[in-house]
Amino acid sequence: MTERRTAVVTGGGSGIGRAISLRLAEDGFATAVLDLNEEAAQVVAEEARQKGGEATAFAVDVSDRAKVDAALEKVRETYGPILVLVNNAGITGFKEFLKITDPVWDRIVAVNLSGPLYCTQNAVPDMIEAGWGRIVNISSSSAQSGQQYMVHYVSTKAGLIGMTKSLALELGPKGITVNTIPPGFVDTPMLRASEERGLLGGSVDKHADLTPVRRPGKPEDIAAAASFLISEEAGYITGQVIGVNGGRNT
Ligand code: NAP
Repeated sequence: MTERRTAVVTGGGSGIGRAISLRLAEDGFATAVLDLNEEAAQVVAEEARQKGGEATAFAVDVSDRAKVDAALEKVRETYGPILVLVNNAGITGFKEFLKITDPVWDRIVAVNLSGPLYCTQNAVPDMIEAGWGRIVNISSSSAQSGQQYMVHYVSTKAGLIGMTKSLALELGPKGITVNTIPPGFVDTPMLRASEERGLLGGSVDKHADLTPVRRPGKPEDIAAAASFLISEEAGYITGQVIGVNGGRNT
């Protein structure tokens, strides 16, 4: 147990989740870094501790409710009630609409949409009891614009935006805010993998030239917005879609 508030970040072992985990540890939260890749989460937790923060890694597959419940119980045993949840873990997908098979659809829905449902249903009772909580869902700018060959991915992220808005109405009276950040074009392993597979329609550099701020996003750009939404002073902001995308979507 610790006097610090406890924050859970899913997919904390890489990219945006890593940056959010490091930032929340720096902000003073006891940070639980959850990831399918436990070793990657351990590296991030160690990095956070080296910088003077409090962080521990936990293995989880967010698409499996029993595994989510087990992991979050371990978080509680380590750090106490969960008052901050960042639903960041996600997988991408790229397929012609008519080639999206049931297993492909089911997997992306399980990770990107059911994952946030399972994690949030588990954590919310702690927040209700405390009369305070913060939930930040990492969606995608592709759900604002649409994206060809990504109907399955975009559908899950649009669903997450809907979940955010609806849950904000239900939880607002209980002192809990729920917001979503739809990132766009952030330089992470996920983005670089898409570039390597030729799925971006050009290089990261080419897209940077077409982005109003003329650079790709950094994971820290998303972490800064998450940190603010989780802060005390953001208590009047809920149900919002806060784009962090260099001006690519408005
Ligand atoms: P990333 O570098 O691939 O990191 C995602 C992390 O989530 C990885 O560590 C991954 O583990 C983990 N993960 C995957 N499936 C999981 C599961 N079932 N349970 C637990 N953890 C799981 O991706 P990123 O670019 O940082 O993306 C983070 C979030 O931002 C995602 O939700 C993504 O859709 C969203 N996003 C990113 C961008 C962008 O430009 N990068 C744009 C829009 C939205 P493994 O490595 O083991 O798979």
